Amino acid sequence: MRVLRLTESAYENGVILGRQHKVEIRFVMESETNPENWAEVVRKRGDYKTANRLSSLTRKDLLNCAKKIHEDSMKAGVNSSKYPLLKDYHCYLDEEYKGMATASGVSFEDILLFKYFVPVYSKFHNMKDEDMDSARCTTVIFPRTPVGPIIGRNTDVSTLYKTVLEDQMSPVLYKQPSSRGYSYVSTCHPSTNEKGLVVFGSSIGYPNEPDIDTNLRIDWYDFVLRNCSTTKEAVDLLLEYLPFWGPCNLAVVDAQGTAAVIEKSKRRAYVHWDDGTGIATTDGVAVGDETAALLDTASEGYRFHLRRHEKLAELIEEKKSRQRPESMWEIISSHSPDSPICKHEEALPKFYKLTSMMSMVLIPKEMRYEIAVWNEDAAPCEQIPWEYSYLI
Ligand SMILES: [Zn+2]
Repeated sequence: MRVLRLTESAYENGVILGRQHKVEIRFVMESETNPENWAEVVRKRGDYKTANRLSSLTRKDLLNCAKKIHEDSMKAGVNSSKYPLLKDYHCYLDEEYKGMATASGVSFEDILLFKYFVPVYSKFHNMKDEDMDSARCTTVIFPRTPVGPIIGRNTDVSTLYKTVLEDQMSPVLYKQPSSRGYSYVSTCHPSTNEKGLVVFGSSIGYPNEPDIDTNLRIDWYDFVLRNCSTTKEAVDLLLEYLPFWGPCNLAVVDAQGTAAVIEKSKRRAYVHWDDGTGIATTDGVAVGDETAALLDTASEGYRFHLRRHEKLAELIEEKKSRQRPESMWEIISSHSPDSPICKHEEALPKFYKLTSMMSMVLIPKEMRYEIAVWNEDAAPCEQIPWEYSYLI
């Protein structure tokens, strides 16, 4: 297991993170942030108008856009008496990004593009919810089993990301100095801390809702795992810091078996508490009164995601008396044609060209997880998963 011993210095932490994510940063810089590659993907879908527009961009346009987002976020400032955990947060990030640039051998502007990749990409693609093809994911939780909570996770992305994911399979411990809170482990994503709290997100867009005023975004994986020991604490904290994260659907469970899903739009949040039988969330769908009201619930995309959401509830109910890692694998590799949980690009509607690139079952009480990552020969659902254990 790799251990990153973080410090109180933002710059030093940036160096440590830059070294750790060097391969990923270089990969994103070389292939993901080339406007010609963006144009090629869109051209293959037959959208020549957008392809031509993307073709006319240069890398400099992308770098400038990322720089602008960063500068706006630096200028914005935060009311630190209202949001004490964000006191000097933007200065911390600026220093951290400088350290990352030094350690990974790319420019500071490149690091900004790496960090603000999603907003830059969305902006130049004029993305609406249905078009969105960044990471889309599913999380399923059995909160109370004899082995503690069991979490199933599919990470669904473009096949371009495969080299990055392979690099992320084994656990990485982010050891924090006590002034920065709890230490946590990355199991493909940063996901569980020393208190056994687990958090995973899924993507969703809210195109009809006006943008929020602040540009400062928190890394909510890091924010929750460092600061919270229980689901209740995580929900309270996230609701208190509402303007600075999301939109996304966030699934949280703690060592005591309390689980919740927070549906977060730009400005609103709706919390679903688990009733003890299990809870799930997936991308593109929100069913809370507050959040669903903002979406075009009659659209083809929404209805597709809603069917998958309903299928998850059905599968959880079906496995109610047999909540084991094996039954979690059965849920996350379910291939019902109308409502697939495990995604294979060729079996999906035209607007949704993604693949389940990584599938995982995490058992935090036993400090272990089983994981399979897509490769040229086999999808995760066709493989025998690798097993990793970790210590925090
Ligand atoms: Zn599959």
